[in-house]
Amino acid sequence: MDKKIEKILELKEKKKALVLAHNYQIPQIQDIADFVGDSLELSKKSKDAPSLLIVFCGVRFMAETAKILSKDKKVLLPANLAGCPLAETITAKDVLNLRKVHPDAWVVSYVNTSAEVKAVSDVCCTSSNAINVVKNVPTKDVIFVPDKNLGWWVAKNVPEKNVILWNGGCYVHEQFTLEDLLEARKKFPDAEIIVHPECKKEILERADFVASTAGMLKRAKASAAKTVIIGTEEGLLHKLEKENPDKKFFSLGISRTCLNMKKTTLNELLASLEKEIYEINLEEEIIEKAGLALERMVKYV
Ligand code: SF4
Repeated sequence: MDKKIEKILELKEKKKALVLAHNYQIPQIQDIADFVGDSLELSKKSKDAPSLLIVFCGVRFMAETAKILSKDKKVLLPANLAGCPLAETITAKDVLNLRKVHPDAWVVSYVNTSAEVKAVSDVCCTSSNAINVVKNVPTKDVIFVPDKNLGWWVAKNVPEKNVILWNGGCYVHEQFTLEDLLEARKKFPDAEIIVHPECKKEILERADFVASTAGMLKRAKASAAKTVIIGTEEGLLHKLEKENPDKKFFSLGISRTCLNMKKTTLNELLASLEKEIYEINLEEEIIEKAGLALERMVKYV
């Protein structure tokens, strides 16, 4: 066994640490983690697990969400500089300004936002429950931040609401093109095309199925198709192939990579476990307010 892997396993055991990895992490990190999943699944794991030391292999907003849900635990983000450009498109001040312009609207923020943005939101949502959350909030006007593609998808599925969008987007998912989709249809006529709702509108309109990463995993397993084309970050292919050895998976067009998700390597994980760096620290007030928005999500799905 690789010396680094041995050391990580030893430290994990010794410190009773829980190592969580997002579906977009590199295969070595996914294979060594205690759990692999989407951001909210992982945050729930961190809350429910008895471990007091959580090592979150993902990007900052995810580790922050884990901290908000388990404030008495030490949450580490091994790749200190792993941010999310989508989350960074909006600040708490931007949300407060939107509130001034639309005083009757509720603010629904996608989990891909900073803790500060969550703290000034009414309720949070994930890509799998966004449609239900928007449908069930008590106001007709809804400010949806920050992803305009997911927001467009939500608005299309909840026509009774007036959804006000923020102009944010995920640079990874926005790289998939209509040409990629048309080409895939020609090349694999029997394949099912499953895409993430952060993809652009023209992709969402023409795909066979639109789902979050957790939803994609479920759908790929249930699908009768033996070939599945995936419109999301290429890291998900590792889990899809592991869970479905009888099926073939391809990325829609060329593989699309989130550079921030790839910042966590075995070196970062080892250093983080060894020195207990980099800890997520949030103000108590932010934890409380953001925690309320996350708790409300459960009520509105
Ligand atoms: S894939 Fe997109 S939304 Fe996810 S962390 Fe990377 S930039 Fe952010």
